[in-house]
Amino acid sequence: MSFKDIYGHEKQIAVLQASMAKGRIAQAYLFYGMKGVGKRTTAAAFAKALNCGRASEILDACDTCPSCLKADHGNHPNIVNVEAKGPFIQRQAILELQDHMKFRPAEGGRRVIIMADADRMNAVAANTLLKTLEEPSPAHVLILITARPHFLPLTILSRCQQVRFNPLPASTVARFLSERRSIEEDAARLLAASAGGSIAAAMETNRESFLNFRQTAMNTIAAMNRTDPLETLAFVAELGQDRKEITDRLAILMNCYRDALIYKETGEVGALINGDRLDVIEDVAERLSGVEIIDCIRSVEGAAKAIEGNANKALTLELMLYKLLKK
Ligand SMILES: [Zn+2]
Repeated sequence: MSFKDIYGHEKQIAVLQASMAKGRIAQAYLFYGMKGVGKRTTAAAFAKALNCGRASEILDACDTCPSCLKADHGNHPNIVNVEAKGPFIQRQAILELQDHMKFRPAEGGRRVIIMADADRMNAVAANTLLKTLEEPSPAHVLILITARPHFLPLTILSRCQQVRFNPLPASTVARFLSERRSIEEDAARLLAASAGGSIAAAMETNRESFLNFRQTAMNTIAAMNRTDPLETLAFVAELGQDRKEITDRLAILMNCYRDALIYKETGEVGALINGDRLDVIEDVAERLSGVEIIDCIRSVEGAAKAIEGNANKALTLELMLYKLLKK
């Protein structure tokens, strides 16, 4: 994996490449941002590039030199991954790292230490790491990765160059799914739209149950003003069991209403997530006013927040459906 293979994060990569071009690599970096957007992948590509024999010309890893091949096989002596054993990263792991750092990196390269979930360092471990940061060595680069930077002590944060990773645009996630996972374009677009900017979230989704649910949701919305309300209430069971599954499915439902609003306001089909079910989107856009559609979006959003906050699942979802049915 090299910079050129990474989806999105162009600005972040440009910053790292600029520091390579100037020969001014920071002693420590903090890569932070939501889970599953590519922080680790970028750290691995950076570590590989910093050790590549041709990086000074191309500001990326060449993928063919002996150093790059070792990095790709996960056995490069200069690329060290530190991970939590159990819930925390313990002091012992940092002490081992410091022992390791007493030796110069192999083959004249730079030793890059990548610490995933750095917020899981306990206080003693963080204090021990601080010693390393206070005694910089140009032969070493530390990359701390976290989705929760506020859990790290300020003394550590202040010594790192911070690189923020934003959620990826849905179109980028969709491109990844179709190019790298050979997922058919329509399905990729739908999955990406509900993944909140995270490739990992899109990959974790069970594609078949996701697509089936979407069809059920669209059919339920289509029938909402025509069938017996009790039938609509049976839809609660379709919304899943555990909280994560329910909030994921509510996001799909919310996208249906979002589409209806866009279609109502602009009449454009190109921007719709569920453009293949224009029958339903058109029907909602005609049946409801803009304000009513916004109310529906708020009801679904409110239910998702309540479920995340441990509210009673069945009651919350029934209440939400009542509100949607009243429209
Ligand atoms: Zn190379």
